[in-house]
Amino acid sequence: MFKVNENYLKLPGSYLFSTIGKKVSAFTQANPDKKIIRLGIGDVTQPLAPAIIDAFHKAVDEMAFADTFRGYAPDLGYEFLRSAIAQNDYKARGCQIDADEIFVSDGAKCDSGNIQEIFSQDNKIAVCDPVYPVYVDTNVMAGRTGTYDSVKETWSDVIYMPCTADNNFAPELPKEVPDIIYLCFPNNPTGSTITKDQLQEWVDYANKVGAVIIYDAAYEAYISEDNVPHTIFECEGARTCAIELRSFSKNAGFTGVRLGFTVIPKELKAGEVSLHSLWARRHGTKYNGAPYVVQRAGEAVYSEAGKEQLKKQVAYYMNNAKYIYDGLKNAGYEVSGGVNAPYIWLKAPNQMTSWEFFDHLLEKANVVGTPGSGFGPSGETYFRLTAFGSYENTVEAIERIKRL
Ligand SMILES: *Cc1c(COP(=O)(O)O)cnc(C)c1O
Repeated sequence: MFKVNENYLKLPGSYLFSTIGKKVSAFTQANPDKKIIRLGIGDVTQPLAPAIIDAFHKAVDEMAFADTFRGYAPDLGYEFLRSAIAQNDYKARGCQIDADEIFVSDGAKCDSGNIQEIFSQDNKIAVCDPVYPVYVDTNVMAGRTGTYDSVKETWSDVIYMPCTADNNFAPELPKEVPDIIYLCFPNNPTGSTITKDQLQEWVDYANKVGAVIIYDAAYEAYISEDNVPHTIFECEGARTCAIELRSFSKNAGFTGVRLGFTVIPKELKAGEVSLHSLWARRHGTKYNGAPYVVQRAGEAVYSEAGKEQLKKQVAYYMNNAKYIYDGLKNAGYEVSGGVNAPYIWLKAPNQMTSWEFFDHLLEKANVVGTPGSGFGPSGETYFRLTAFGSYENTVEAIERIKRL
């Protein structure tokens, strides 16, 4: 008789975005004449840039001829893409990361979920609270998180590192020593960042206690301040304690075509065992790479035209972010984020919980956002708005919120 993985049964039934979806469709059914504006979902809306589309077309045409056709991609990804990444994202920033330490994949969500497979069951994880839910959920599925407390909305074997207004949304070193530390900066959902000096403290700490940091830098392209690191490998000693996750989704609009990568330095070891060799092994058997045409499109992200066009896209979203931030601030809301990330994090007013504020915004302003509690217990009284909408919708949504 087959049996299911019982760890899956521990996950609370309803996924954040499905609850939101149900509430919104119930509202639209009852109020068909109301125009809903969505500032909730973490997906981009601008089309792929011309340089990327050109690269796609060219690569698709190559597939039509026997001498340029490509089948299975190499395990770690095509050399042309890994070299472009090593050069532009690392060497140009003074970081020593080689092309063969880069593993091209079909996205950072998959990698952030899969990476825990190379670690033993009895590792203890630490996460920022609030944060992108994938880190905890995939460790739940792997059986690494103990039992769920539905009142506190926490797992017994997870170390939560609260990020609230009290610590400027930057986690403090945990009192209990973790084995695996997930850090995500610029942060989803708070939009907060830490400085290079602060990140250096984490790297020093991880090296001291023998922990590994899984650093999710999916929003690196949105960084506007000089003292915010673009990669953890800007820090000294990161090569012996850090894995970095990156994505082409938020900087270049690849959410629908899928492309990301993971960096694992050769020096990163658990005792004698190199994590690079474990992940290479995994990549060879459970291949989650990206197709040739997508990797060629990814290469175009680093072309002169691609860089120019994508800078404009990021600027478009960040102009929305500034509009949301300024508008809410002027209306008296307590707001943060929005400077180095396309996310604005606000305190729900009048002692409302995040779901109460969700209902309030939906009913009174017909604006959909994301309740902070979906990202961890410390998000209970917070709310996330995203800058990924159109400028016109963003302006209209903020005008409606101001009138509340
Ligand atoms: C959107 C997002 C990702 C997902 O990236 P994909 O490459 O589209 O899978 C990863 N991490 C964070 C924090 C994100 O917000």
